[in-house]
Amino acid sequence: MFHDAKGRGLHSFTRRLLLGIGSTLVLPGAAHGFAHATDVAAGNRSSTSPRSRVIDVHTHMLNSSFVELLRTRGGAHYSIKQVIGGQTGVYRDGAPFMTLTPGMFDYELRLRAMDEACVDMAIVTLTSPNCYWGTSDDTLKAAQIVNDDMAAQSRRYPDRIRFMCSLPWLDAKLAVAELKRACDSLGAVGVMVLANVDEGSLTDKRFEPIWDEIDGRALPVLVHPTAPPATKYLDVVQYNLIASVGFMFDTSLAISRMIFDGFLDRYPNLKLIAAHGGGALPYLAGRLDICYDNMPAARVKISQQPSTYLRRIYYDSVVFRQDALAMCIAVAGDDRVLYGSDYPHNIGDMKGCLARVDALPAGQRDAVRGGNAERLFGL
Ligand SMILES: [Zn+2]
Repeated sequence: MFHDAKGRGLHSFTRRLLLGIGSTLVLPGAAHGFAHATDVAAGNRSSTSPRSRVIDVHTHMLNSSFVELLRTRGGAHYSIKQVIGGQTGVYRDGAPFMTLTPGMFDYELRLRAMDEACVDMAIVTLTSPNCYWGTSDDTLKAAQIVNDDMAAQSRRYPDRIRFMCSLPWLDAKLAVAELKRACDSLGAVGVMVLANVDEGSLTDKRFEPIWDEIDGRALPVLVHPTAPPATKYLDVVQYNLIASVGFMFDTSLAISRMIFDGFLDRYPNLKLIAAHGGGALPYLAGRLDICYDNMPAARVKISQQPSTYLRRIYYDSVVFRQDALAMCIAVAGDDRVLYGSDYPHNIGDMKGCLARVDALPAGQRDAVRGGNAERLFGL
């Protein structure tokens, strides 16, 4: 049985959701207790074995109350129903974009999976569609449910669990108040924002008070994709094209827009983390620059090439090829890339993402495993 932060049994709704998918879950083997990653890794490594702890900056948790609120108050855009394969998915405008898995609701299962994968600490966040739906009351309630739960879990497992807060971005005043509460009272170490807020751009004027507060606090911000704007026109209902392609361009568009908008000059203390290795951004860096060089419209608000801004933000390591990780490091710098796994999404992969990081040259490897995250989050 799954329990939330206070040990309560999950709502019957969530139990039903998970019953439909339990048989497909691959549970981790026997836990290693709380063995450090280095102890386990030492068995098959030379004297260059990694010494830094592993900190996962892209990893998610939900809870049953949040899912129930989304189901009942998600409005016209969101629905929850079965996806092909029998699992339960969240849909936007008829297109599935997020599949619920047991690991999203069970911290003990998470810790066992972390032990199995040799991950020391997880900085957990909610995932999409985050809290950007419903009335002001709904969006605030959703954020508070999630932030309170994650704070309780980080108090329960202080060496293993930290969290970045979710905010009711649709109401800036409420969002600033919740940001203050989450950081000052609950111990949040950063903020998670989706790459579009109910189809609104992150550079939209209505979000300025929230960015002002984040910049003033110099907080890390995970920019995480969701179903892209205008999903219903993109022909992405079939084949889960939101997950494979749509997410990458949601992030790439959001960060590119911020760069060309001069956002990083206006908010010099921002520590943006572009999810999934920056989406397509490392691959597009040269194209962003040549557009800047040859198109006056691209130079209206900035006076440096976009690739210089790409070195000012951070990236996680949630990419699925070694050459993609190498390109991300080449574009960003090895002080800007952070281990991430996207666990427990159905394509989340703690072990595979860590294996690619561990295959890097020793200096890069230790920085990406956790050294950069320690510095960025002050851990
Ligand atoms: Zn994710």
